[in-house]
Amino acid sequence: MRVLILGGGVIGTSIAYHLAARGADVLVLERSTVACAASGKSGGFLALDWCDGTPLMTLARRSFALHAQLANSLGGDWGYRRMTTYAGVVGESAARMPRRAGPGWISSEVAISGQIGSTGTTAQVHPAAFTKGMLRAAEARGANLRLGEAKGLLCRGGNVIGVQIEGETLDGDAVVIAMGPWSVLAARWLPLPPVFGLKGHSLVFETGATLPPEALFLEYADPAGFLLSPEIFPRADGTTYVCGVSSESPIPIDPDHVAPDEGAIDRLKALCDRMSPVLARAPVLASQACYRPVTADGLPLIGAVPGARGAYVATGHSVWGILNAPATAEAMAELILDGAASTVDLSPFDPARLAALDPERAAVTRGLRS
Ligand SMILES: Cc1cc2nc3c(=O)[nH]c(=O)nc-3n(C[C@H](O)[C@H](O)[C@H](O)COP(=O)(O)OP(=O)(O)OC[C@H]3O[C@@H](n4cnc5c(N)ncnc54)[C@H](O)[C@@H]3O)c2cc1C
Repeated sequence: MRVLILGGGVIGTSIAYHLAARGADVLVLERSTVACAASGKSGGFLALDWCDGTPLMTLARRSFALHAQLANSLGGDWGYRRMTTYAGVVGESAARMPRRAGPGWISSEVAISGQIGSTGTTAQVHPAAFTKGMLRAAEARGANLRLGEAKGLLCRGGNVIGVQIEGETLDGDAVVIAMGPWSVLAARWLPLPPVFGLKGHSLVFETGATLPPEALFLEYADPAGFLLSPEIFPRADGTTYVCGVSSESPIPIDPDHVAPDEGAIDRLKALCDRMSPVLARAPVLASQACYRPVTADGLPLIGAVPGARGAYVATGHSVWGILNAPATAEAMAELILDGAASTVDLSPFDPARLAALDPERAAVTRGLRS
């Protein structure tokens, strides 16, 4: 079976790996570069049980286990390691809090309120390296990468049979929409529910090999009256990632045109200077922004697209896309190759729950399909 995967983020490359590992003929189509978007610019933090009590619980627990297995079985060079994780506050309110034990590399302006994860329950990967590692593992099993922009779908008799790119068409038995927040563009071709992009800013510091595997989730009320939630993740490669300033700026259609909002990086850098003397003196390696894909009900879309045989979607993973990529991909491979997912119940993520097939949209879909 030939499967075309649109989007070379963590979801697309993970699906490519799981399909190729089972013998499918796989092509990943990526408009810019692999991991150019959120999959290369996110925290890469993983948690076993932080989705417990929600519909994501099984997906998250299975994914947490698969991350450990993949790092081991594929000899992953993506910095997988277990972490101890703390919560706390920054700024004036920190001075009034009792001192609890925490990382030694934070400033006196940070007060730790407690430990919220252990090496048994929290971990990390370098997300860009993991995304590229999944593609490499897929390529080693016969998958191919093609750079190009998906511009539409080819359909015959209600079946999706390929993808249109610039001046050419690509044939496939199945097509997977995995374009993150840009999956919204596929709603022009298919009856897909909307997917939105929420913007986040981040900095990557060259901190050297000095910082232990300690993750921090902090709260900070900035003088302008906004509540910020900075997250700090020292990485195995001697860098440290910090995110924490979000916005609702509209997403550019071209992934290469994503850029930080004016002033956002300066605010984040000033906060980093307060949070840790190590960050204050470390060179900045990257100042960046990216969009996480979200849906109307906050749950991902994972499954067959209703009313379009051969079309599948996997997106909308919001803040847990790096964590939940492995089990999403494993289940998608089962769905496409076996006709149903067996490792995870995908029904809470069925795109049909949100894809209101109103008459106007259905007509547009039929027109594009014929
Ligand atoms: C600041 C921030 C921090 C985060 N931290 C974490 C974290 O710690 N842990 C965690 O689990 N998750 C985290 N996330 C969430 C995670 O990064 C995302 O859920 C995940 O990366 C989404 O992956 P994706 O493959 O769906 O989309 P993307 O990474 O957006 O990939 C989509 C790909 O599709 C391509 N594309 C777009 N249009 C086309 C087209 N027409 N044709 C072909 N290709 C196209 C793009 O170029 C892109 O490469 C974070 C997100 C943000 C914003």
